[in-house]
Amino acid sequence: MMKRIPEPFRIKMVEPIKMTTLQERQKALCEAGNNPFLLKSEDVYIDLLTDSGTGAMSANQWAALMIGDEAYAGSRSFVKLEKSVQTLFKYQHVIPVHQGRGAEQILFPNMVKHKHCEHPVFISNYHFDTTAAHVEMSGAKAINVLTPQALETGQWADFKGNFDLDALQQTIDDYGADNVVGIIITITCNSAGGQPVSLANIQAVAAIAKKHNILVVIDSARFAENAYFIKQREHGLAQKPIGDIIRSMFACGDIFTMSAKKDPIVNMGGLCCFKDNSEMALFRDVQVSCVPMEGFITYGGLNGRDMEALNVGLWECADEDYLEYRIGQVAYLGELLHEAGIPIQYPTGGHAVFIDAGRLLPHIPPEQFPAHALANHLYLEGGVRGVEIGSLLLGRDPATGLQKKSPLELLRLTIPRRVYTNDHMKYIADCLIAVKNSAASIKGLTFEYEPPLLRHFTARLIEIEK
Ligand SMILES: *Cc1c(COP(=O)(O)O)cnc(C)c1O
Repeated sequence: MMKRIPEPFRIKMVEPIKMTTLQERQKALCEAGNNPFLLKSEDVYIDLLTDSGTGAMSANQWAALMIGDEAYAGSRSFVKLEKSVQTLFKYQHVIPVHQGRGAEQILFPNMVKHKHCEHPVFISNYHFDTTAAHVEMSGAKAINVLTPQALETGQWADFKGNFDLDALQQTIDDYGADNVVGIIITITCNSAGGQPVSLANIQAVAAIAKKHNILVVIDSARFAENAYFIKQREHGLAQKPIGDIIRSMFACGDIFTMSAKKDPIVNMGGLCCFKDNSEMALFRDVQVSCVPMEGFITYGGLNGRDMEALNVGLWECADEDYLEYRIGQVAYLGELLHEAGIPIQYPTGGHAVFIDAGRLLPHIPPEQFPAHALANHLYLEGGVRGVEIGSLLLGRDPATGLQKKSPLELLRLTIPRRVYTNDHMKYIADCLIAVKNSAASIKGLTFEYEPPLLRHFTARLIEIEK
């Protein structure tokens, strides 16, 4: 039995959530066209749609809001944030942005411009979806070279977020190093289920990049969770302070982007930072882009008070007691499901539990969206909202109009930071076990309305009667 790590905080303020009856949930889901995205959050008891911007700020973060300096230029709050970044990550040049994609939109087009190449590509362990979109909007191609271990959901591997180093070298050879604008190291690897990347792998990627004169960008939304996994699992690093592990990871990059809505527990915010003076021309161009797109270079779309809260959150999320509880809570939910025979991406990653709905509901073919059907039944059972990561999300091939083939059909349960208790995790597991016990009666789905683009957000579906 998994050890439960108790919450390292006490609760000073509570937000009531509504309890609903089965009849109320049936009505709400019906009105939402059998699509949990279209539910009102009021009708959801436990909301596991995302961990982005949904964390609970601490008393210190709320207190920091009151001392924000709202000066347009040179804000005291910016100077503090800059100093924290310099200390925690050893990156000298700091640009605040409104969220992760704000960093992507001012950085990538300038990187492409500075590379002066014919067929620009970026290579990543796995590009997050907005990251891939901004790579493509800058005229480049986004290529993923994730370790194949990530696809074997039932098999334990310590670092399922790693780069496949042979595939990385092969891709550089195929496209020519002169065309590779950047290597993006995503920590943790969100799309693989919040799976960590080992320090050895990060260092090996950086060595390959250096050999070929390619810039390394660390996409660092969950940097602290990744560092904690390294401390737990990587040989010889158990005694190293988390701060040292963080600096060892970031030493391998030239630039980092960060969505601060994840690990640093703010509702909105982000960063785009350069390590040293070696890319000053690029850095200046990114600053130039920041002004019209995000805002002046010392606020980048953030209020002074937001920068204060972020400054506190950066340190709080790297606290080892907090990380033990955080990673432990996600693992606790994962273990309850694993022990009940519910197939999950195993071991669990940092921020979410991914249920392998393809294996849980083998009678529903991919084109009838088994993970989405599972999401609906989990909502009906207990008011818990998860999200499909599978064929529905992937969509159709624009050229042929045919459903693209998804490697996996997953239901993602994303755990917000410091928001739900371990009792809530037990409740979620009980609901899923009840759903599993009636799995054979769950029906596949087809479209009542299929939007032409990003269809998972607004699609309406109906059950297929046999
Ligand atoms: C969330 C996320 C982003 C984008 O950040 P936003 O704050 O949502 O704009 C980029 N990369 C990764 C890995 C993310 O998880």
